[in-house]
Amino acid sequence: MSYIKIILISSTAEDRVEPGGINWLDFWEKRKGKTSTHCRSYPCYKAPAGARLVKRADQPGKVYLLPLCEEHILMSEGTVLSAWESDLELILI
Ligand SMILES: [Zn+2]
Repeated sequence: MSYIKIILISSTAEDRVEPGGINWLDFWEKRKGKTSTHCRSYPCYKAPAGARLVKRADQPGKVYLLPLCEEHILMSEGTVLSAWESDLELILI
């Protein structure tokens, strides 16, 4: 396993929360079965502020969730970051 390039695809607060009111970070934790202890932008180890919708640079057709710190979650749409492939959670929207 290695880290890959990901692209931030949305920056609105609404996109961080599901229609039913479930926080995307909680959703990611439930799906992964673990607590998100830090930002998953590699290499960043700050506390996560939420989870944001991202795409893989090499597979732009799919949408994933990734826990990010306040600094990374507020970056502009289209920003390219690195992340471990195993930290991405595929979602269907
Ligand atoms: Zn970060």
